[in-house]
Amino acid sequence: MSTRPTKEPVAVPPHIQTRLEAAGLRRTLATRAVLGLFLAQPQGGLTHAQVQNALTTRGLDVNRVTLYRLLDRLATCGVLQRRADDQARTWHFSLAPLNAAARGADQGALPQFECDACHQQFALPGASDSLRALTRDLQRAMDRLGHRTQGVEVAVHGTCASCVETAA
Ligand SMILES: [Zn+2]
Repeated sequence: MSTRPTKEPVAVPPHIQTRLEAAGLRRTLATRAVLGLFLAQPQGGLTHAQVQNALTTRGLDVNRVTLYRLLDRLATCGVLQRRADDQARTWHFSLAPLNAAARGADQGALPQFECDACHQQFALPGASDSLRALTRDLQRAMDRLGHRTQGVEVAVHGTCASCVETAA
């Protein structure tokens, strides 16, 4: 019901495009607009209502249920990640890290290694057993303080092998 022009289409990064295609998601106007929102603010999470409001502001009316399904599908195919907000009982969606597609959207985060030089992200295979122990320790420590943990994310920063090589 809007005659306002929508914003110019955003360039969808190749790794996201690949995931959309793998999941059989068509790049509809709504999909591109939603991706544009998340690409414009890669740090913060958005709730379903915030996404809907932002789309309306941009002159795009998307049905509530359609938007729910779209966000769900984007989370399932690893483009977005979602996290529950205990207080507001809503989902917060945000852009998933680069190589998150291989794991389920709602599984605990595996440790990620991000190169501070080239900003590529790598999974850290083989760290899972020690990570589980670490996660358990952290959660127990929080429990003792009376906090309720939802999950633990581990991110490792440094310089990746090829950047180290380039610098040497
Ligand atoms: Zn690097």
